[in-house]
Amino acid sequence: MIEPFAYDALPGRVIFGAGALEKLAKELDGLGFGRALVLTTPQQTEQGERVAALIGARAAGRYAGARMHVPVEVVDDAERALAESKADCLLAIGGGSTTGLAKALALRSSLPIVAVPTTYAGSEMTPIWGITEGGAKTTGRDVRVLPRLVIYDPDLLRTLPADVVATSGMNAIAHCVEALYSQTANPVTSLMAEEGVRAIAEALPRAAQAEIDGDARAQVLYGAWLGGTVLGAVGMALHHKLCHTLGGSFDLPHAEVHTIVIPHAAAFNAPAAPEAMARVARALGKAKPEEAGGALFDLIVATGVKTRLADIGMKEADLDRAAELATRNPYWNPRPIDRESIRRLLDDAYFGRRPR
Ligand code: NAD
Repeated sequence: MIEPFAYDALPGRVIFGAGALEKLAKELDGLGFGRALVLTTPQQTEQGERVAALIGARAAGRYAGARMHVPVEVVDDAERALAESKADCLLAIGGGSTTGLAKALALRSSLPIVAVPTTYAGSEMTPIWGITEGGAKTTGRDVRVLPRLVIYDPDLLRTLPADVVATSGMNAIAHCVEALYSQTANPVTSLMAEEGVRAIAEALPRAAQAEIDGDARAQVLYGAWLGGTVLGAVGMALHHKLCHTLGGSFDLPHAEVHTIVIPHAAAFNAPAAPEAMARVARALGKAKPEEAGGALFDLIVATGVKTRLADIGMKEADLDRAAELATRNPYWNPRPIDRESIRRLLDDAYFGRRPR
């Protein structure tokens, strides 16, 4: 049966393909953008320089100070560079942190964003922004921060370290899994989400090998595009709430937390979302919905990255507080949430037990 639904398609042009970066100058011209402020992290200065060279006189300035979680001081600093450059668009080359800085600047200036993603985080497809001030991250939705143009060039993913390929790819799978049982899921986002899980899961073990497999990394990027699209289109639930709590309150790394928690969140929600989980399971090559959590866990093991919160800086003594924080404010989830069951979920994630 088709449940009633609402679907808001988000605007934005997407160019995908190996070598797509070469089209950037022409694409900027097509949109009438003549002066770009090129944004990167300090680690990706070189990639920023390369892109600036590619667009020639259209590069009005460069700012290479993007940092994780978009600290407000960085936004203030970048805003000065923006004023000096007299740019008419923001060109972000990097992962979620760099796209996040572009979004914070767009929120202040209303300038359009052009994003060139170099991880699988998916922020480039969402109207969600976040800024950290005094240790607290404020987030919101505003269509002004949704990039007008996204250039996905899989060649840019070749420099991403293998372990980051794995965790960033699992971060993208998590967007797809939660989109399938989202309260605001609709037939279009569910198609994209299932295909996202399938594309990523099939290629991730090869993509995350030390020896570069360009095709596998490209396939994961295609899945990550789908993941970002559904993240931007529908509401998330338990998994994202837990990861936000763990990342924000215990300073754990973003993509690693998503990687470790998703099998457990999926297993927890499976009894309450059998149809969504059947699609996740099918995309992972399994027949039964209850196999989805275990299959996601096996995928992480196959990529060789960590499966235990204990190994990424979480302290056992903090698990009670994490469960308390994650259940303090009520929010929608397919299965009702209580402190004790979330504490058990966190325990499984802490010790890296395979969901049954
Ligand atoms: P990131 O952007 O912080 O990148 C991690 C590191 O890898 C950085 O040092 C970066 O310079 C480097 N790097 C990125 N691409 C590289 C490449 N191809 N080669 C070599 N090094 C590279 O990490 P991320 O996981 O992409 O983003 C995480 C952040 O994005 C979090 O703060 C998260 O909250 C945010 N996010 C936001 C949304 C949204 O919709 N607003 C969605 C997803 C993630």
